[in-house]
Amino acid sequence: LFISHAQNERMEMMSHVAASLAHEVRNPLTAIKGFLKLISERSHDTQKIEQYIRISLDEVQRTESILSEYLSLTKPSARQCEIINYCDQLRVVADVMTPYAIMYNVELEVSKPDIPVLVLANPDELKQVLVNFIKNGVEACSEITCGKIELSLKAEGNNTILLIKDNGVGMNREQIERLGSIYFSTKSSGTGLGLTYSYQVIHALGGLVTVSSKPQLGTRFTITIPSVSAAKHEI
Ligand code: ADP
Ligand code: MG
Repeated sequence: LFISHAQNERMEMMSHVAASLAHEVRNPLTAIKGFLKLISERSHDTQKIEQYIRISLDEVQRTESILSEYLSLTKPSARQCEIINYCDQLRVVADVMTPYAIMYNVELEVSKPDIPVLVLANPDELKQVLVNFIKNGVEACSEITCGKIELSLKAEGNNTILLIKDNGVGMNREQIERLGSIYFSTKSSGTGLGLTYSYQVIHALGGLVTVSSKPQLGTRFTITIPSVSAAKHEI
C-alpha cells in the first residue's frame, strides 16, 4: 500500500511536470518565432537583424537548459535500489558540489562516521537529492559574506540522520509551509522542483524530512532514512 501511494504521488508529480514543461518551453518558442518573422521581413537593418539573431540564440539556449533540467527529473528510473554506503555517497556529492560552493564563496563542511552507514536506495536518486539540498544551501548563502554549509551524517538506531545546516537567508513561516510543494520557488530563475523531487524520493524510501529555519539566520534540514544494519547485509 505504501509503495503504491508513493508511486501514485510520483505519477501525479510527473503529470504536473509535463504541463509545466509545455508552458515553460512555449515562451521562448513564441519569442523565437516572432524574431524569425521579423528577420524574414527583410526590411530591417543589419544591426537590428543581428540583435534578433542574438536574442533568438539566447532563447534556444534557454529552451535547451529547461529541457535538460526536466529530463534529469523525469528520467524513467526503474527505482532499482541497492545497498549504498551513505558516507561515500555524501563525500562524492560534496566533492562534486565544491566548485559550485566556491563560486558563491560558500564553505562546505562534511562530518560523518568512519564506519559505513548503509541505506537501501537508488544511487542516482540519492545523489540528486543531496545535490538539490546542497545547491539550495549554497544559493541561500550567496549574498552572505561567510556562507557555510555543514553536512553531518550519523546512524541512530535503525535510522540514518543527515543534517544540512546553512547560515543563509532562511525562511519565514509561510515559506516553510510551502516547502516541497510543486513550483514553489522564491528565486527568479528557480523551478520549484528540486525539493518536490527530493521529498518524493525520501518518502518512497520510507524516510522523512523536517526543517527549522529563521529569516536572516539560516536553515536546518534533517533527512531521516531507514538504515540497513550491517548484520542484515551479511546475511
Ligand atoms: P528552486 O531552488 O528552483 O527555487 P527548490 O524546490 O529547490 O526550488 O526550493 C524551493 C524553495 O525553497 C526555494 O526557492 C527557496 O525559497 C526555499 N528553500 C529551499 N532550501 C532553502 C534554504 N536552504 N534556505 C532558504 N530557502 C530555501
Ligand atoms: Mg533548488
